[in-house]
Amino acid sequence: MIEVVDKIPNDVLSSMGFMGHEQVVFCNDKKTGLKAIIAIHDTTLGPALGGTRMWNYKNEMDALNDVLRLSRGMTFKAAISGLNLGGGKAVIIGDANKEKTEQLMKSFGNFVDSLGGKYITAEDVGMTPQDMEYVRSTTKHVTGIPESMGGSGDPSVFTAYGVYMGMKASAKFKWGSDSIHGKRVLIQGVGHVGYYLMKHLLEEGAEVLISDIDHNKVENYCSKFGVTSVESNTDIYSIDMDIYSPCALGATLDSVTIPKLKCSIVAGAANNQCADENIHSDLIYNRGIVYAPDFLINAGGLINVYSEIKGYNREKSLLKTKEIYDTTLEILLNSETNNITPQDSAMKIALNRLHKK
Ligand code: NAD
Repeated sequence: MIEVVDKIPNDVLSSMGFMGHEQVVFCNDKKTGLKAIIAIHDTTLGPALGGTRMWNYKNEMDALNDVLRLSRGMTFKAAISGLNLGGGKAVIIGDANKEKTEQLMKSFGNFVDSLGGKYITAEDVGMTPQDMEYVRSTTKHVTGIPESMGGSGDPSVFTAYGVYMGMKASAKFKWGSDSIHGKRVLIQGVGHVGYYLMKHLLEEGAEVLISDIDHNKVENYCSKFGVTSVESNTDIYSIDMDIYSPCALGATLDSVTIPKLKCSIVAGAANNQCADENIHSDLIYNRGIVYAPDFLINAGGLINVYSEIKGYNREKSLLKTKEIYDTTLEILLNSETNNITPQDSAMKIALNRLHKK
């Protein structure tokens, strides 16, 4: 049933810039129509944990590229957060609004189960608590379970809190005060994480701008919370703002968008915000914009699901997520002292932990 690919042609991986995955599993189930990929990047620190994303990828190569990038990011996210977890991720290829069935989810669970706990899954973009219930009916290697079923609930609450902490630490570094009061913050993508982040920012008195392809959501939040909408099809990168917070999909920071940015800080939840982690984090750094590394500040959700595995304690999860403030500040100060990008500064800490093992 499972096809284990231990050698993907080098030209595919090197053209994408990715190497070092331990195992990549292509899941094909003709009966349910399931097409998924599970990527296990590194299990040095523990089982590979990472959510499952369902997305209507243009082609299979895009799906492979996404899952390889995301799983690699999870390794470093767990390492920098001090968690005993490895990095993994899964993608299901298909339209989450049209192609989901109970049987498809159960079939995906079977594939996860066959890995014997080497990969633990959770909810990500395009998946719902109901979907995860179906997945859980065929495998126990699932976390981020709803509170009603004895789990830790929606991880987005913790992710948003961590992003908020990382944003405040970046403000402290840039402006000498961590207050976001009166600062103009653009949130791109007001989904699960963006919504809770918006609420933290509003509570602190920030001026919040939101942009989302879901117009109903934008209209609703504008009238309910008094935030300002920015059309998602306009050139949002050129807007005058203090902080740009990417909370939709990754790779929005590239050679076209970075030169346009008028903000002082980039701090958001999306994974892999830089299209190319080295080239584009350099470009941001050279423009004098403070970049809070995504894999560091969006770790709150992972911290919370890790706690679920170890014996859930909400207060402890919140305290651990709050530490993202101190780690972000340390990384930004280290980046300044050593004249390296915050991305490199963060990667050094993560790699040190992996190599010590
Ligand atoms: P979500 O699907 O709930 O929200 C994403 C939002 O972005 C949706 O409202 C969608 O309409 C919008 N969107 C999509 N494309 C857009 C575009 N081009 N312009 C503007 N808006 C667009 O997802 P989420 O759970 O809130 O996660 C957001 C991001 O944070 C994702 O990249 C995810 O991988 C990352 N992340 C999430 C968590 C978590 O705990 N949920 C943890 C770590 C990282």
